[in-house]
Amino acid sequence: MRVLLLAPPGAGKGTQGKRLAAQFGVTHISSGDLLRDNIIAGTELGTTVQAYLAAGDLVPDAVIEDLLRVSVVEAAHTGGYVLDGFPRTVHQAEQAYLMAQEEGVALQAVLFLRVPDDVLTARLLARGRGADDTEATIRHRLAVYHAETEPLIAAYQARGLLHEVDGDQPIEAVTAACRDALAQVPV
Ligand code: AMP
Repeated sequence: MRVLLLAPPGAGKGTQGKRLAAQFGVTHISSGDLLRDNIIAGTELGTTVQAYLAAGDLVPDAVIEDLLRVSVVEAAHTGGYVLDGFPRTVHQAEQAYLMAQEEGVALQAVLFLRVPDDVLTARLLARGRGADDTEATIRHRLAVYHAETEPLIAAYQARGLLHEVDGDQPIEAVTAACRDALAQVPV
């Protein structure tokens, strides 16, 4: 199973990604987790990307594409993945599409978790993970999402891959709705 979770910041894609990957027995790949692991470990990549995360900006496409390529291809060939947080720009989606074509491992479904902005802001403020969760940064992250990531919704809809799920529900209900959506997908 090769599934992409597309959602604004604070919509719970990390939580749902872990739950769905565990239930389907595939790899959970989170671009945000990979970046944060690098920052914590003090790697060169971590040092490069730290300021982008703190500001709520996206890290450059080339950096994220290099970082994700190996994990995505490896998972695609070993049972599949639930991909959380990548691709996040039109350029990244185009690169991911080319890579999947080369490898013969096309995406099978995109789950779009819809959550209203005011709910997202409240959730992110409550989570307060640190420097990247101040109110100004949260507003900026949402603006970046609307400008850079939202265009992917129409693109995946045009490819017949998009399944919309109401993300403004309790965690278990969202997971169940995701599973229902995936039950219609030939995987
Ligand atoms: P997340 O945990 O998915 O919300 O990601 C946290 C932060 O990591 C984002 O605000 C971005 O700064 C960065 N990030 C994660 N995924 C990507 C991506 N695909 N492209 C660019 N930046 C990303």
